[in-house]
Amino acid sequence: MAGLLDGLESLGLGNLENLDVFAEEKKQAKAQGAAAEEKKGPTEEELIYDKEFDCPVCGKKFTAKVMKSGKAKLLGTDADMRPKYEGIDSNKYDVLLCGRCGYSALVRYHGNLLPTQVKLIKDNISSNIKLKKYDEPTYSYEQALERYKIALANAVVKKCKISERAFICLKTAWLIRGMKEAGVAENKISAEEIASYEAQEKEYLKNAYQGFYEARSKENPPIAGMDNATLDYLLAQLAFRFGDYGTSLKMVEALLMSRESARIKNKALDLKEAIKEAKAKAGEA
Ligand SMILES: [Zn+2]
Repeated sequence: MAGLLDGLESLGLGNLENLDVFAEEKKQAKAQGAAAEEKKGPTEEELIYDKEFDCPVCGKKFTAKVMKSGKAKLLGTDADMRPKYEGIDSNKYDVLLCGRCGYSALVRYHGNLLPTQVKLIKDNISSNIKLKKYDEPTYSYEQALERYKIALANAVVKKCKISERAFICLKTAWLIRGMKEAGVAENKISAEEIASYEAQEKEYLKNAYQGFYEARSKENPPIAGMDNATLDYLLAQLAFRFGDYGTSLKMVEALLMSRESARIKNKALDLKEAIKEAKAKAGEA
């Protein structure tokens, strides 16, 4: 078959006869394809790094894997504000744990401890804990869950504010939800395991709800980094989740009447609709 440029030879341009007319575009398309391939986003391993911390209990340095927050892309949040990132479950990387003495806390709360708290941790955690060694480049869900449990044990032992304990419970519930979702996405877990994850998530969420509810009347904002409106919105969501529609609606109404931002009011409006629907459904049943 003749080429598009056949006949150029008679014009003295024979060396151009066999050129591919769309070569440049084909090259560009190929390059774009490769770029799109790369755009799939960084892997979990690429989104974390080892960071060094000073342990306030044993005084030594330890490292923990933390997320490069500037590099990870936020895809959205669940109704109860659990953040979802592309390529990584950020909740896996929020607990710091000293491999020497077992002191552990959420990144937000790690740092200064009272001397009495240091003693409590040394006596009740450091002297007993037997930590496992992990060498994988990322934290698995099982490992992350273990870190949350150690952080919660530390929180109880050091007699911290109720909001800190509630926040650990909330984030543990989020972690378990992520664990279930990953298992479902990879087709790796049975219906029984799904039910078990959901039961565990519910238990942690319930403790978070009760803890934050109590913290709201005993502590001053910001509570676990949340202002009043954000905390009330979270409480309204949790109350809704546990079928306490009366409490949920009361908090939503208060948010709608307040001078809060449109962002939180819109979320409150959505929740109000959901409560109405759920109540109607409950009425029908
Ligand atoms: Zn330590």
